[in-house]
Amino acid sequence: MDKKHWRLEADHDACLGTGICAGIAPDHFQVIDGRSVPSAEETPPDEAVRDAVESCPMEALRILDAGNGEVLAPL
Ligand code: SF4
Repeated sequence: MDKKHWRLEADHDACLGTGICAGIAPDHFQVIDGRSVPSAEETPPDEAVRDAVESCPMEALRILDAGNGEVLAPL
């Protein structure tokens, strides 16, 4: 049983506003003023979120374990 919660971070300086993340996980990322913004700071684990984070060409997104801060993606 996985009770982990994920924390989402977006690096606004690295993001180029391509919208790839928002296209893959529209419930979790929006592009506002040319920068990706997570819809919520924390989320239950969701493979669409992992796909979006792994697909960012700038590695501007990160998933952290909300409990201990471990970086879960990108790996
Ligand atoms: S995929 Fe990466 S560069 Fe593109 S909008 Fe999302 S965070 Fe920004």
